[in-house]
Amino acid sequence: MLALNLERVLRRIERARLAYSAHQIISLVAVSKYQSAEDILALYECGQRAFGENKVQDLRAKSEILSDVPLEWHFIGTLQENKINALLALQPSLIHSIDSIKLAHAIQKRLGEAKVRALLQVNAANEASKSGVSIESAKEIYEQIQAQCPNIILEGIMSIGAHSPNRADIERSFQLTRDVFDSVQGCGARILSMGMSGDFEIAIAYGANLVRIGSKLFEGAK
Ligand SMILES: *Cc1c(COP(=O)(O)O)cnc(C)c1O
Repeated sequence: MLALNLERVLRRIERARLAYSAHQIISLVAVSKYQSAEDILALYECGQRAFGENKVQDLRAKSEILSDVPLEWHFIGTLQENKINALLALQPSLIHSIDSIKLAHAIQKRLGEAKVRALLQVNAANEASKSGVSIESAKEIYEQIQAQCPNIILEGIMSIGAHSPNRADIERSFQLTRDVFDSVQGCGARILSMGMSGDFEIAIAYGANLVRIGSKLFEGAK
């Protein structure tokens, strides 16, 4: 089941990638937030290495159970300041969800000598239910984090596509995110994390080079 899901998703990513550019390289993060450690291990055995969790306590529990497996853990959820130490102790491969300068400062303070790779999350659809900095302020905040938080290695931009049945709204949110990404490429931004199960092909058409996919990979598991 999982092998077939993975194969289907990879084939769809590949088709969208070639339609966008044969030179594009796209990473897949398997979002395992609703899955057991067992299912994560099963997908790893199909060849998937990067997994994303949105709660620090879940990331800790699953990464402890799977500590012998060379997984790459991504943190994709809203990060509360009182969970920063716990998250940093787990040494995540990439934090996708720095959503304010205040959070960046709090992370910087707790890093000490350590460093962490991260993305700035933008609220491209301008939805109250989503976190992220505004499109208008994104470039300035990106530069502030780089200037004021030397232990945060900022590598790009993350967003969640518009929650809308209307394809034009989704496209617009990805286009706006892409514009922000382009505006910070001069600051070294390399990763554009956008696209989930329902919209990853659209995201790839707008230049996403990291997609975060959960339900399409794990459907039918258990
Ligand atoms: C849950 C989640 C995903 C994956 O969503 P699916 O629709 O299950 O693919 C991607 N990104 C974030 C931030 C999420 O919380």
